[in-house]
Amino acid sequence: MIAFAVPPAPADAPEPVLQPGRTIEELTSTVSASRLSTWLQCRLKFYLRYVAGVVKPPSAALHVGKTVHAVLQQWSLARWRGSPLDAEAIGAVFEAAWTQPEGAVPIAWEAEDEADSKANALAVIETYLRDTPIPVDEKPEGVEVSVEMDLASHGLPVLVGVLDLVRAGGRIVDFKTTGRTPDPKMVRHTTEVQTTGYALLYRETTGQRETGIELHHLVKLKTPKLVVTEAGPATDQQVNRLFHLIDAYVDDLERRDPIPSPGMQCSMCEFLGECRAWV
Ligand code: SF4
Repeated sequence: MIAFAVPPAPADAPEPVLQPGRTIEELTSTVSASRLSTWLQCRLKFYLRYVAGVVKPPSAALHVGKTVHAVLQQWSLARWRGSPLDAEAIGAVFEAAWTQPEGAVPIAWEAEDEADSKANALAVIETYLRDTPIPVDEKPEGVEVSVEMDLASHGLPVLVGVLDLVRAGGRIVDFKTTGRTPDPKMVRHTTEVQTTGYALLYRETTGQRETGIELHHLVKLKTPKLVVTEAGPATDQQVNRLFHLIDAYVDDLERRDPIPSPGMQCSMCEFLGECRAWV
């Protein structure tokens, strides 16, 4: 086993914020799709984010994604209540979501211009509301539902997650923002951990099988667009694959040996400085 401590950041890097980290026991008693996905990307990134609790300023792309997500959440909740939001209400929700709360870690705008990012985020939302396949009078089955499923009978932790939206008839929807037009085959492959986890959580909560899973990608191009990818209900093979991954996740964390995995994902990683100092 190699050193299990936070690698020092380079001298010229901004001081990272440290939050209380989580113990390996906590991180292996429950598991979520987002934690599994980070662990699959890179063990060292997982360790720095979840165990060491290193917090970096959110990127412009992350802030846009969170704002879009917050607006679509309120849009879905309003339809669930039977009183859809009008354009003015959408604008107010957008402004509130865009404004950072006092004391929040400031956004790393870097080369991005805040006004341009804000205009692009709004254009993305307008495009979605114009092109969405969801009728404005369709009442969702659920919005932002926190769910869990005890996998102890499989020798695994509790699976936890939040479903963005469940459409009428049991169709699970997940919203994503991206800078590039997604390829449907790759989307189904790269989101499988998440979609299979959501399918299991939906089945656990409702006792029903989902009728389908939709990935709604809001593409942040100069002229934004919406790409909807149908993933279909999760198969038994996908469920078995997810269980196998969770098993490997627990084994790996218990080894306490977080190694880096240099690759394409490093260009988007906020821990490059810490990673270069790792030994
Ligand atoms: S820079 Fe790459 S290898 Fe290093 S922690 Fe980030 S994802 Fe992992």
